[in-house]
Amino acid sequence: MPQSNCCHKFDYKKVDLEQKRRKICKKCGYIDYKNPKIVTGSLVIKNKKVLLCKRAISPSYGKWTFPSGYLDKGETPEEGAVREAREEVNIKIKLLKLLIIFTVRKKNLIQFVFLAKHINKTFKPGIETLEAKYFEFKDIPWKSLAFPSVTYALKKMGKLPKNLPIFHIFNKD
Ligand SMILES: [Zn+2]
Repeated sequence: MPQSNCCHKFDYKKVDLEQKRRKICKKCGYIDYKNPKIVTGSLVIKNKKVLLCKRAISPSYGKWTFPSGYLDKGETPEEGAVREAREEVNIKIKLLKLLIIFTVRKKNLIQFVFLAKHINKTFKPGIETLEAKYFEFKDIPWKSLAFPSVTYALKKMGKLPKNLPIFHIFNKD
């Protein structure tokens, strides 16, 4: 059995039924599967404008993004998106639709992007945000966006079909 107090000594070996080469501890047998990390966030719309945040952290310090971050243990992607919006820009949001599931293979990361509406009146940058602002589509700072996924999501948002797929949520606890 893997021991949590083991100071792993890793080696690469073919393991499991699939016989895939994995990083495995020679001492305790712990396998580092390197499953993708999950990121969740939302495009928050108000009066046909979208809320963007200027990042106060690296990577992409000083570039614009939408509220988004790593999912916490025990959280659903929907709960994570709501929490990130609260942490990054102190707003309450209501999720409307799942817009994109973005896979970034090189970063081993999967990002959920929801469409949301802002339900309280104010917003205020949190510690990871230098500045937050609502942009009309034509005023989006395309050259200063933080990640390719931000550009992609904002472009998709600009061409929204009237009827997006229905947003189903099922959480099995
Ligand atoms: Zn070990």
